[in-house]
Amino acid sequence: MPVPLQPPDKALIEKASEVYQRLLVAYGDHPLKPRREPMHELVSTMLSHRTTEREEQLAYDEMRRRFGTWEAVRDAPLEKLTEAIQKANYPEAKARNIQTVLQRIITERGEATIDFLQELPVEKAIEWLTDLPGVGIKTATLVLLFCFSKPVLPVDTHVHRISQRLGLIGPKVTAEKAHALLLALFPPDPPMLFNFHINMLRHGQKLCTWQDPRCEKCPLTDICNWYQENRA
Ligand code: SF4
Repeated sequence: MPVPLQPPDKALIEKASEVYQRLLVAYGDHPLKPRREPMHELVSTMLSHRTTEREEQLAYDEMRRRFGTWEAVRDAPLEKLTEAIQKANYPEAKARNIQTVLQRIITERGEATIDFLQELPVEKAIEWLTDLPGVGIKTATLVLLFCFSKPVLPVDTHVHRISQRLGLIGPKVTAEKAHALLLALFPPDPPMLFNFHINMLRHGQKLCTWQDPRCEKCPLTDICNWYQENRA
């Protein structure tokens, strides 16, 4: 993961903490516990790219229903796997990547498991995951935080958009670069990073939507750059 060239200034760290606290009041405290086993999380997240949660779930369930085991998914004819996951966008590319990932994991580990990541230092685990085809920094950090409680911060489209509007990152910072920049604003505290991720996601779905943010209901207006520039 790229490292910020210099530490963030104190004011930005305080702002991130203020955002965190207000979102906690608005959307609650979410216990960090694995929601799915690591292989499931990895493959589901690969399926989720540019796909709704519902479609991702349908694609995953159909794949598991048709093939049963990870070995069978790996060995399925590409067109059959593509057909099974067609509810997800880009099914052929995803099917190809899933099979390559399974091939690599099973060959390397002797079985379809990524549980060994628990024992790896964070940087090494990120390096290993992002070396897999179809696995970027967002997928890697999501698997590491959600399944292994590692101190990383996944930046999805909501976290990215809201962080830009608030001014936690610059307007031109890419989602990929935002991973290191936002992480540097928080202590290495997995439950806190998890809460921030989940509550930014809720905020993005409920109020700070892409097209027309409902600022009139937002608890962050006085510290939001976008609001101050556009609606104050
Ligand atoms: S004030 Fe508006 S733009 Fe800023 S975070 Fe809240 S909803 Fe989003």
